[in-house]
Amino acid sequence: MADPTGFMKFEREEPKKRPREERVHDWREVYAEASPEARNKKVRVQATRCMDCGIPFCHSGSSGCPLGNLIPEWNDLVRQGHWAAASDRLHATNNFPEFTGKLCPAPCEAGCVLSISPASGGPVTIKQIEATIAEQSWEMGIVEAQVAEVSSGQRVAVVGSGPAGLAAAQQLTRAGHEVTVYERDDRLGGLLRYGIPEFKMEKKHLDRRLAQLRKEGARFVTGCEVGVDLTVEQLRAEYDAVVLAVGALRGRDDTVTPGRELAGIHLAMEHLVQANRQCEGDGPPEIDANGKHVVVIGGGDTGADCYGTASRQGALSVTQLDQYPMPPTTRDDDRSPWPTWPYILRTYPAHDEGGERLFGVAVKRFVGDDEGHVRAIELQHVRVTRDRETGVRTVEPVGDEIETIPADLVLLAIGFEGVERMRLLDDLGLSLTQRGALSCGADWQTEAPGVFVCGDAHRGASLVVWAIAEGRSVAHAVDTYLTGSSDLPAPVHPT
Ligand code: SF4
Repeated sequence: MADPTGFMKFEREEPKKRPREERVHDWREVYAEASPEARNKKVRVQATRCMDCGIPFCHSGSSGCPLGNLIPEWNDLVRQGHWAAASDRLHATNNFPEFTGKLCPAPCEAGCVLSISPASGGPVTIKQIEATIAEQSWEMGIVEAQVAEVSSGQRVAVVGSGPAGLAAAQQLTRAGHEVTVYERDDRLGGLLRYGIPEFKMEKKHLDRRLAQLRKEGARFVTGCEVGVDLTVEQLRAEYDAVVLAVGALRGRDDTVTPGRELAGIHLAMEHLVQANRQCEGDGPPEIDANGKHVVVIGGGDTGADCYGTASRQGALSVTQLDQYPMPPTTRDDDRSPWPTWPYILRTYPAHDEGGERLFGVAVKRFVGDDEGHVRAIELQHVRVTRDRETGVRTVEPVGDEIETIPADLVLLAIGFEGVERMRLLDDLGLSLTQRGALSCGADWQTEAPGVFVCGDAHRGASLVVWAIAEGRSVAHAVDTYLTGSSDLPAPVHPT
């Protein structure tokens, strides 16, 4: 039985990062323990901090894990060193726990009861425990292909090979359907391949899951834009159901700031894709931060990914701009709200690697040289307010002071506007909602019969854990559509 006082005996201890001086010179993952033995020993102590709450807010509810991960159960199994049983419970709700363990900002930790008060020492390190169970499972050789015993004879096309598409494909393949995943890029993985930097999750983790999927019977076709290379008529003729997991990759641009047309200003994803392609061996990127003053506009996850990428490419300086004021930096700060976690300043490992973050500022003008290339940015202090009723955000200047900072490369990480325009959607007769998403009914089916949607394409740009949860849920819906019922889990419902 869990020790309800474990959190009083042991402090929260974050995973160990490689030294800054070492990691900025390579693309390998930031976190690395000395050895599997040291890693497991530490994680068993961390799991001991879990109280196995009667109502585990980490596990479900509005603030918990969308997958319904059985967190208290596997915490207790890890505490006892029962790694195989912990792996079994972890994989019962999550197809790709190493993706969430490495990439998810962990709403489960925000939901953990121990996050309520600074006196409790912070939430259980759930992410770290999850990633370690996953890694230990691979090391023990117990992550095996689960091949369906009976074939349904039904064929499903999944369009898009990001986390939502892969989760849907794996669930449907295991349910006995013949699944083909189409990817328009030359390699599989979607954002996991070309959006997430290697230093956050090395591609070997993705590749070994793809190998598992292949062994289970899923088929993959790369370099195929469905709607163009495979027409909708062909798609309809060959498949009994279609899952759209095409993401929400239309990046938000800055259409108002004077100077936006200057060379050297790019959307964040253009930069990240090229850097990831370089790591895959595709040669040097055109958008290269080496020897440049880099300014990243936008204070979120994508901005931090650009920040870390620019540091590794050898930027002269990296500055990240955020319109919002700097949040409290510690849980003891008087300004910290209650509960305190995670409403304190989010720092990413990239922020320890040099560079600067500026808060409460916005770009007034991009300044170019005679050749039309950006060379500086004029900044001004701003205040952001949001109308409580309409949700409309207003950004107002504060004072007249203008600050100029050097900028040879500017990366716009200011969000995504939704699904990209594509012929496939037109030919299916589907239109986008006002927020750029694809709508669906309670059964995840779009207005096109037999065509389902999941992940960012439905939800808008969101967390990897939501993508996997929606992928699992759409698989339940497709299985029901094809066979009349389903034993597959459906952890979430369409919003
Ligand atoms: Fe353990 Fe925190 Fe979940 Fe409670 S809320 S069961 S302490 S992880």
